[in-house]
Amino acid sequence: MKVKMILPALTEAESPFWRPIKYSLFPPLGLATLAAYLSPDDEIDLQDQHIEKLNLDDYPDLVVIQVYITNAYRAYQIAGHYRRKGAYVILGGLHVSSLPEEAKQHADSIFIGPGEHSFPEFLKDFKAKKTKKVYQSSVRTLENIPPIGRDLIKRNKYLVPNSIVVTRGCPHHCDFCYKDAFYEGGRSFYTQAVDDALSEIERLPGKHLYFLDDHLLGNVRFANELFEGMKGMNRVFQGAATIDSILRGDLIEKAAEAGLRSLFVGFETFSSNNLKQSNKKQNLEKDYIKAVNRLHSLGIMINGSFVFGLDDDDKDVFKRTVDWGVKNSITTSTYHILTPYPGTRLYKDMEASGRILTRNWDLYDTRNVVYQTKNLSAEELKAGYDWSYKEFYSWSNILKASLNHDSNKHKLKHLFYTGGWKKFEPVWNFLIKTNKLNEILPVLEAILAKVEPKQNPLQLVNLPTKEQLSTAV
Ligand code: SF4
Repeated sequence: MKVKMILPALTEAESPFWRPIKYSLFPPLGLATLAAYLSPDDEIDLQDQHIEKLNLDDYPDLVVIQVYITNAYRAYQIAGHYRRKGAYVILGGLHVSSLPEEAKQHADSIFIGPGEHSFPEFLKDFKAKKTKKVYQSSVRTLENIPPIGRDLIKRNKYLVPNSIVVTRGCPHHCDFCYKDAFYEGGRSFYTQAVDDALSEIERLPGKHLYFLDDHLLGNVRFANELFEGMKGMNRVFQGAATIDSILRGDLIEKAAEAGLRSLFVGFETFSSNNLKQSNKKQNLEKDYIKAVNRLHSLGIMINGSFVFGLDDDDKDVFKRTVDWGVKNSITTSTYHILTPYPGTRLYKDMEASGRILTRNWDLYDTRNVVYQTKNLSAEELKAGYDWSYKEFYSWSNILKASLNHDSNKHKLKHLFYTGGWKKFEPVWNFLIKTNKLNEILPVLEAILAKVEPKQNPLQLVNLPTKEQLSTAV
């Protein structure tokens, strides 16, 4: 059978502010995970519209489309196109789980929740021509799942082909997060067997890994054993974790020993009222600066996540947040305008109080204001958000934040990582155009490596020459 698997491009990928590199980071692991359940005789074509032009002229028997909120309309169009051609179309992903009634109208079958067990069930039904309209995930375990179909991934098109997920979900319940909607009706946090996770890591070539888990330190026993097993594997890796897990026990030291070099941390807000409003209990009364210092003392760079527009935010929140990030040497900051995704408690609360202003899902990209604000006007919120990005990533603030580190090696690492990420768009575009993105990995590994005192990251990299760049842009 011919199977087409598609990740349609997010709407923001067409915005004038689109940074191609931002959408060429990670391959579509979810689809590759499902592909592993197909038969070796099946002809599988996995396409990611962020990195390639979709071929819509084919005639697959089965089409599998992954739907996020800001690619939903595009996903529905593609689904319609293939249904008209006689293919059987199935839709799954976060948006489908949040709004199954909407998704149902565009598919032959939809998938609610994670697909590891419902997809093989569907395949059996499909063979027997007895499919159902809705497949709801009920079994929640990662035991005995087949290795991800990584051979379908076009590795040279991604900066981080070695992305990996060893857990599902998260132990927390923030009101603005999709997690509870997606995992409703069963366990919402579970892990692979440690040996399976280590085998998956061993299968990945090179040195660098990016754990895409929502909370890599969420299960202390699992994380301890994972890091113990990774010692001596000579890996460098990036991941995400919460403030409280950084402050508690010595797990973060073990992660650093195993190769953790950069961490995504959800600071979100400095206001305890905002934290309470969001049910972000894991941040309440936690010493953010202590967590930052602990990470820096271990040589771990920080990608801080911050949300603007919670009800306790005022006009000064933008400057406060940017200044704090610069002063505390946060390596990269990700700012979001509060977005009430359908299916979340935040959405339900806002809907009940009449605060949802639009249901145009294309605008739910965390860059637009889609709800009735309180202390700030929508214009102030949008302008403050734009200003924060510009200000945090100005050269003067990148330099200031870099120089605020104690040691020279951290100063250099910070400067290269942040400057490289935000200030060299032509280099990224050149690498994407010439299919050489993957070749920059040694540079990333060099920046993430434990730099020895006499080693200078400048000497470890082979950046494209000026001549190469001028022919590319
Ligand atoms: S900690 Fe992160 S992943 Fe977990 S519920 Fe909160 S926002 Fe979601």
